[in-house]
Amino acid sequence: MTAIKFNKEFSCDYGVLERVSPMLRRIVAPNPGPFTFHGTGTYVVGKGEVAVIDPGPNDPGHIGALMSALPGERVTHILATHTHKDHSPGCRLLKHLTNATVYGYGPHGRGWILRDEMVEEGADMEFIPDIQVRTGEVIKGKDWSIECVHTPGHTSNHICYQLREEKALLCGDHVMAWSTSIISPPDGNLAVYLDSLELLLVRDDRIFWPCHGPPIEDPKPFVKSYIAHRQERIRQVRSCLQKRIQFIDDMVPEIYTRLPGHMRPAAARSVLSTLIFLIDRGEVSTEKISLDGAYELIG
Ligand SMILES: [Zn+2]
Repeated sequence: MTAIKFNKEFSCDYGVLERVSPMLRRIVAPNPGPFTFHGTGTYVVGKGEVAVIDPGPNDPGHIGALMSALPGERVTHILATHTHKDHSPGCRLLKHLTNATVYGYGPHGRGWILRDEMVEEGADMEFIPDIQVRTGEVIKGKDWSIECVHTPGHTSNHICYQLREEKALLCGDHVMAWSTSIISPPDGNLAVYLDSLELLLVRDDRIFWPCHGPPIEDPKPFVKSYIAHRQERIRQVRSCLQKRIQFIDDMVPEIYTRLPGHMRPAAARSVLSTLIFLIDRGEVSTEKISLDGAYELIG
């Protein structure tokens, strides 16, 4: 299995806005969990007139702590990387308090495929940005400028933001130092995700600041290992099908050894995303794309 050099060294004081670089501060929301690590990192860009990136879950306590940590400063911009419930609901709370303009790619996507039996978890369906941004657009503040980079895959509306002055990519859940990113169909799409990883290899970002966990200080080798890891997973799913293992429930223990029980549903969704990838390439067939469908190789 391709090794990703994960970094789980991270500590934070909940409720404290901490400086992490000359132009970036971060406050972590108290929503730790198996997918959020210590919690959602909310970033503050600039000084005096600031942008807030990913205000986090619908948690008035977290937004209150953020506001208390910015005495005499004004929030002028609110940016969302994507519409999972641990990232974007806080935009509404923060807008209510500051009347700042909310930026994002758009509302939560409906996914490339819609089938009744696949219900996505954790989506913030109420998010509507004031301004929809696209790749290459630049959002300018008083002493900072942020370039938008659409990186669909984790969700179809996932967008990263580069703080140009530091060549620092605020990368949301696209790439994380502590873990792989979850690709959950129907809105999550593996083929699109892999393209969005490749995109990062031709950019000039010096450091990544994910919303969960520590920064990635040498991004390109890390992204390459992320891509290799996914390709290995694709090969593993193919190999299960070659052994005539047809059901996701039977593939998961073949592919994921030493998987904690609570991570099984996420692993199953990840295998599903890989099967959809292979179906779209004409390699695999099924009567029913779902978690309990039977899958087989074509030819
Ligand atoms: Zn997410």
